[in-house]
Amino acid sequence: MKLATLEHQARRRHLAVLGGFHPGPEDSAPEGTGTILMLGPDEPGFWPAFTAAPEYRDGQPDPMDRWSKRVIGGWAATLGGTALFPSDGPPFAPFYSWALRTGRIHASPIRLLVHDAAGLMVSFRGALALPARLDLPPAPPSPCEGCPAPCLTACPVEALSPEHYDLDACRDWLRGPGTDCMDRGCRARRACPLSRRHGRLDAQSAFHMRAFLGPPA
Ligand code: SF4
Ligand code: SF4
Repeated sequence: MKLATLEHQARRRHLAVLGGFHPGPEDSAPEGTGTILMLGPDEPGFWPAFTAAPEYRDGQPDPMDRWSKRVIGGWAATLGGTALFPSDGPPFAPFYSWALRTGRIHASPIRLLVHDAAGLMVSFRGALALPARLDLPPAPPSPCEGCPAPCLTACPVEALSPEHYDLDACRDWLRGPGTDCMDRGCRARRACPLSRRHGRLDAQSAFHMRAFLGPPA
């Protein structure tokens, strides 16, 4: 099995392979795993595909998690692998450290993860743990090298910094009237030049922001 084949299979499922690595004993991977592939939405086609799926339309809770489990779980079964999800736990799989292990995803100056193609819009729908040790290409340098870091100054309430994430300031702003963060996604994430090229639709970002904020207090 080649990485290119799996990337093609992922795209047919509206997913993107965001990176992979060969886990060691310290990575808490399932026994016998040769390769872990991190999976995210394939933009911009993901949102129309997801919103046409039964999980979005049935009105039940957690539609995107249920979509991910059906699609990635079914795919993993055909590969003799294991599907892993960030929402499963406790104990939770260490998606943050797995992401860093790919070499394609880095801690940005505002501490959120940044991907070499998705930028600060990187998100995970799940991961595939495969028994085979796939050939993986060398990782490119971090996109933050040489970047003037507009992500550092984009937040209207300075909730994001290299040292701290002020969750209360962020949530207070989001609960205010007509904020563009609610309608289009986090300004700091959108400020990243990679995010701007990535093709994440505003409707998808708004969906995540509503999930993040939760119901009114
Ligand atoms: S804006 Fe620049 S510094 Fe900030 S995450 Fe994106 S690439 Fe990195
Ligand atoms: S969602 Fe808006 S208020 Fe919250 S951290 Fe991002 S830019 Fe700041």
